[in-house]
Amino acid sequence: MNAPNRAGWKPQMPQGDANKQITSSGDLGLQLEEPLIFELASNGNCGVDFDAEATEPSAFLAPFIRKQPVDLPGLSEPETVRHYTRLSRQNYAIDLGPFPLGSCTMKHNPRLNEAVARLPGFADIHPLQPMDTVQGALAVIEQLADWLMKLTGMPAVAMSPKAGAHGELCGILAIRAALEARGDRRAVILVPESAHGTNPATAAFAGYAVENIPATAQGRVDLAALEARLGPDVAGVMITNPNTCGLFERDMKAISDAVHAAGGLVYCDGANFNAIVGKVRPGDLGIDAMHINLHKTFSTPHGGGGPGSGPVVLSEALAPFAPIPFVHRDEEGRLRLVEERGASELLPDSFGRMVAFHGQMGMFTRALAYMLSHGADGLKQVAEDAVLNANYVLRSLDDMLDAPFGDSGPCMHEALFSDAGMAKGFTTLDIAKGLIDEGFHPMTVYFPLVVHGAMLVEPTETESRSGLDRLIGSLRAVASRAKEGDETLKSAPHHAPRRRMDETLAARKPVLVWKGQPAPSGEPVPSEIGGR
Ligand SMILES: *Cc1c(COP(=O)(O)O)cnc(C)c1O
Repeated sequence: MNAPNRAGWKPQMPQGDANKQITSSGDLGLQLEEPLIFELASNGNCGVDFDAEATEPSAFLAPFIRKQPVDLPGLSEPETVRHYTRLSRQNYAIDLGPFPLGSCTMKHNPRLNEAVARLPGFADIHPLQPMDTVQGALAVIEQLADWLMKLTGMPAVAMSPKAGAHGELCGILAIRAALEARGDRRAVILVPESAHGTNPATAAFAGYAVENIPATAQGRVDLAALEARLGPDVAGVMITNPNTCGLFERDMKAISDAVHAAGGLVYCDGANFNAIVGKVRPGDLGIDAMHINLHKTFSTPHGGGGPGSGPVVLSEALAPFAPIPFVHRDEEGRLRLVEERGASELLPDSFGRMVAFHGQMGMFTRALAYMLSHGADGLKQVAEDAVLNANYVLRSLDDMLDAPFGDSGPCMHEALFSDAGMAKGFTTLDIAKGLIDEGFHPMTVYFPLVVHGAMLVEPTETESRSGLDRLIGSLRAVASRAKEGDETLKSAPHHAPRRRMDETLAARKPVLVWKGQPAPSGEPVPSEIGGR
């Protein structure tokens, strides 16, 4: 077995920390340095012993033998396992501590969900299996759909969209289909200033012109401004409720009524449903479509942990235009997935298909497990505890950080702060980076755009009071350094594997392909990945 070639890999020290003992390995205790996998194992090595005989190609395969090396790093199994385990230790995870990213609902994923999703009857099935062998899986989709309709007070739901933004597209396409079906082509979608970026992006992607509606000084949609803009060219509005300032849109019913009176339709961004699940039925507020992020409200893992799922509940006006496929129960009680538009007498006006197959089955099983284990009363408590925790954060920090809507009454499930009151030259970014040194994933920063230097903290209901107190204590300590002008904060994080990276360069010009072999001198060829 070939040893991986570590020549050319040189430990990189956390830059400029004179008080840190330089070790020969680059590791500092349990803070591990780890090169790229291509630096660990030079091309040409092989991590596995093959019999010379076994590698002799059969006559049948001989014409397909590669002429060039495949350019994969050759590592043995233990080396590979260590590489990824060492990398994973540089990662922050919801299983490690609070993840207070506003607008993301990073809550604990109950292990019960995982156990259910791994049951062979769910995990080992294939989407092309005959329908009569997957009746249980179809029943999960049907039952989850039923819960979603009941919780939102809506008569229909499209289960197939694969994330929140995908659900938005589904809703907007249904709105367009409904308008076109009545011969009404409209060109404009109205979106509030504080909208999540996916809202205007969705409307633009679907071919609409996007126009902003201003917010009031209290951080809510300006109803008068909205009413003034409504007219025969407005296809609809996209409103997030609770909104991205962490506030409930109290005028939602009046907004829906006004939009309907002007012939438009109402899209509600339901990503923040966690704050109101079991308390408010969005259907009662007159909306026509709303996506639900199963991966937020109903706890299925997301971000690095797994895919999303964004079912869209629909009103009577939009239900006939829902996408295929959908689950249908026939008179004998058999379930089937209706796959074709033309063949479907059930939904002749469907706008079409958004996904191959039926959606995120693994997320469906997890979300349903979460709902059934909480029950209706438990889901209501989820919302109450999420809101309680956010208000605890808001009121524990509003003497230290500026809370721009602190006078607008209690917040919903997230607390919003601005950069007002920091020492000259100190920014929201400094607070976020300082929080990394404290051992926390930072909150959402610079969003929503309506607040200068915004910091949006969403603790979720799964944090205990003592967990919140630790986070609050760290935020207070870092915020007071920013107020006092502590220069060391400007170069934080000091205790993470890396300092500040050129995040703009990394985002705009990511280098995703390893280009360099180690030079003979032993100097690593710098990969262009930001800041390494
Ligand atoms: C997360 C989020 C979205 C987008 O959902 P994805 O699943 O990430 O596509 C849209 N709107 C709001 C308010 C969100 O928080």
